[in-house]
Amino acid sequence: MIPFSPPRIDEKTIAEVTEALRSGWISTGPKTRLFEERLAEYLGTDHVVALGSATAGLQLILHWLGIGEGDEVIVPAYTYCATANVVIHSGATPVMVDVLDDFNMDPEAVAAAITPNTKAVIPVDISGLPADYDRLFEVLESKRSIFQPKGEVQETLGRIMLISDSAHSIGAKYKGQTAGMIADMSSFSFHAVKNLTTAEGGAVVFNVADKFNHEKLKQQFKISSLHGQTKDAFSKVQIGAWRYDIVEAGFKCNMTDLQAAIGLVELERYEDTLARRKAIFDRYSERLSQCDWANVPIYQTEDKTSSYHLYLLRINNATEEQRDAIIHKIGEKQVAVNVHYIPVPMLSFYKGKGYDIANYPTTYNNYKGEITLPVWYNLTDEQVDTVLDAVITSVEEVMG
Ligand SMILES: *Cc1c(COP(=O)(O)O)cnc(C)c1O
Repeated sequence: MIPFSPPRIDEKTIAEVTEALRSGWISTGPKTRLFEERLAEYLGTDHVVALGSATAGLQLILHWLGIGEGDEVIVPAYTYCATANVVIHSGATPVMVDVLDDFNMDPEAVAAAITPNTKAVIPVDISGLPADYDRLFEVLESKRSIFQPKGEVQETLGRIMLISDSAHSIGAKYKGQTAGMIADMSSFSFHAVKNLTTAEGGAVVFNVADKFNHEKLKQQFKISSLHGQTKDAFSKVQIGAWRYDIVEAGFKCNMTDLQAAIGLVELERYEDTLARRKAIFDRYSERLSQCDWANVPIYQTEDKTSSYHLYLLRINNATEEQRDAIIHKIGEKQVAVNVHYIPVPMLSFYKGKGYDIANYPTTYNNYKGEITLPVWYNLTDEQVDTVLDAVITSVEEVMG
């Protein structure tokens, strides 16, 4: 079986994690600090906060912004549930909008959905292709006059906040800028299936230096990720530094040194990872673009370069049932594929809240014939060809 997206765990990874274990620092300590420094360097920024997940990162951002009951946060209907779940957790209402043919949030739909209660918009760089940030910023600027700030942070910001769900897009580029450095704040994921993993993990990056002090923000986010405690365990071991305080009822979502150890190894070889992923995308597209039933994904435009996270193939004119049958046939040929994602309005919880997929026609259309092909660090050309053979034969078997 060709697996879908196994994590890379080799001797380098094992050595780095072992070193953390032997050091006695298994929670947040020196390796987490080093990972944050290296990540900031890689992104070309000053401060990064490493966390337990991208979801936690988004949650901390909404918490910092003071989001709560009565507020609205706009999210795309086509995403993983995390983007909407964090809004529910904050007590606000997720307002879902449709996406465009390239799977990214439709800025015009965002413009139409904004009300005086809108406090934030969370585009997703889906599959690693950055959202249309310039147009999104323009939309938010045009709505400045109806923005009703609540609290100091929102007043200082002066407009609806643009928060990027960058779970897929580490290493992607938008108009020469690195993903994570475009929206006001961004949250990366280092979950096991993502491009760069720490087993579970995430990081928040700030891009609001014109209005806020990034170093202070980093301290504040660190505190919020540790129960609101003013000192982490590592700082507390310094002589006489035992005293701490709790300044808020914070969350508990810090990254551990065991996780950071994996991340340090993965980050060091991330440029190679991206190059291999791109080569796999290219090989898929080269052959599939010759099939008239195939709608191949966009991963490079004049303005955008993807991080090649998910190869989102669509089978033209396939119904959901036909797509599912094709996946079954591909599986019989010992190839693991996937679907990204079941649109959020189609999930039981959100359906129960009254969201209806009929209101998101492009989302549904993108989803119904979608099959995600395997992409990972050392999937060989030969394996890519095996996947292609399995996909092409299975589509022909089902679609005739
Ligand atoms: C994976 C993912 C997340 C959540 O990441 P975690 O690190 O698992 O919290 C959020 N949004 C999208 C689009 C994702 O794919």
